[in-house]
Amino acid sequence: MNANPLLRRTKIVATLGPATDVPGMLEKIIAEGVNVARLNLSHGQPDDHRARANAVRAASLASGREVGILADLQGPKIRIETFANGPVELADGASFVLDCRPDAPPGDATRVGVSYYGLPHDVHAGDVLLLDDGLVALTVQDVAGAEVRCKVLVGGKLSNRKGLNRQGGGLSVTALSDKDKADIKLAAEIGADFLAVSFVRSAEDMHQARRLLHEAGGNAALVAKIERADAIPVLGEIIDASDVVMVARGDLGVEIGDAELPGLQKKIIRETVQRNRAVITATQMLQSMVRSPIPTRAEVLDVANAVIDGTDAVMLSEETAAGAHPDKAVAAMTRICLGAERQFEPKEDLGSVSHQMNRTDQAIALAAMVLAGQLGVRAIVALTESGATAQWLSRYRSAVPIYGMSPSAAARRRMLVLRDVQPVEFTHGERQSMAASTRAAVQLLFGKGKLVEGDSVVITYGDRIGHVGGTNTLKLLWVGPDGTVESLRDL
Ligand code: PGA
Ligand code: MN
Repeated sequence: MNANPLLRRTKIVATLGPATDVPGMLEKIIAEGVNVARLNLSHGQPDDHRARANAVRAASLASGREVGILADLQGPKIRIETFANGPVELADGASFVLDCRPDAPPGDATRVGVSYYGLPHDVHAGDVLLLDDGLVALTVQDVAGAEVRCKVLVGGKLSNRKGLNRQGGGLSVTALSDKDKADIKLAAEIGADFLAVSFVRSAEDMHQARRLLHEAGGNAALVAKIERADAIPVLGEIIDASDVVMVARGDLGVEIGDAELPGLQKKIIRETVQRNRAVITATQMLQSMVRSPIPTRAEVLDVANAVIDGTDAVMLSEETAAGAHPDKAVAAMTRICLGAERQFEPKEDLGSVSHQMNRTDQAIALAAMVLAGQLGVRAIVALTESGATAQWLSRYRSAVPIYGMSPSAAARRRMLVLRDVQPVEFTHGERQSMAASTRAAVQLLFGKGKLVEGDSVVITYGDRIGHVGGTNTLKLLWVGPDGTVESLRDL
């Protein structure tokens, strides 16, 4: 029951894990529509990630579907250490100590170690600390040396290495840990197409990650995960310093409170698209499908609303990494996105859009979109070296499919996160004229069944083929018999 993933405009990111290591499962989730596979570097060893990346490449090749790889850094997530005898049950009102000494012994129902030794300096009496994404809450009573003494505000089960956040945010850890720095090298070695930076606080965090990635020889697009309260006041600067933004609802919801989440999701999506970057909406989108073969109605509405908000991509975490039905979760995503896309109303008046514009290719992209909207063209074709023009085009959120045609596999994979964009492999002949190239591009899409006789098409390209960011030309043409091109028609 494969929905046709080629018709879907919203992209799907799926996290790999033990559940997708089951033989045949990776192939299944790719067939159901995964565009980008996420390696969660919070778990597993480098060799696990190398093996999964290789498996993605092999499955992608075998299926003929391009799949991007996103390496997601753990970040400085603060975690409790382990318990001596497995999970403990914390009762409401009980006392509980966070022991921030390097040699804290294994925990029990009264105390547990925390390997962030700055915690006693960061917290004060009255602060609320949230464990396991908020399932357990503690109120700080006082701080004594390396001990943070708490009272259990909301009790529950607590197991090894659960995350710890403060309500309201502001625990002052640096964005890139030593493990992250080593993992950036791993991401470069694997050839990841996207590198996600967790718990970003500022644009400088992204600059630092980019420097380290380039030093390691990597060239991935950088994803800023918005999951700290402190990131919100500097959101615009962080977006500008990134290629992609993730609404990381898990940790963000814990820090800012769940009631603020819907408004913030809309704001982050709107602002990211306006600033010409791509946006992924993540976490608990189909959470019940970790166990259940079908989503709840609330989850269906959540995914659909993210699509209607204008997200580029939706993400699956535990649903695919550790769930009982990874393939069904992806199939559900595909189905819900397709349904929601029918409800999405593209912008009508592009003439007055207030996108920042400081590049020629952006200007051409806007002109192409206005023309496409006016004439109701079938497709926009971007002959693009780096994929940049396809990205500008897709920021206008029209309903017209955009074919990003590039000779570069890396550029095509980076386009896999862009809404409305279908990357297509296309190489120009060495000494081919642009007229011949545009004819060849139309012929190729005709051969793939994406264009039929009579379709009108807008094509963008650069005078200097092979030059990144060189798009300066816009052309309108029609598809003739057998995929030939007709260049003049009455409108
Ligand atoms: P994580 O990030 O899954 O790495 O925690 C996403 C989130 O916090 O929502
Ligand atoms: Mn997170």
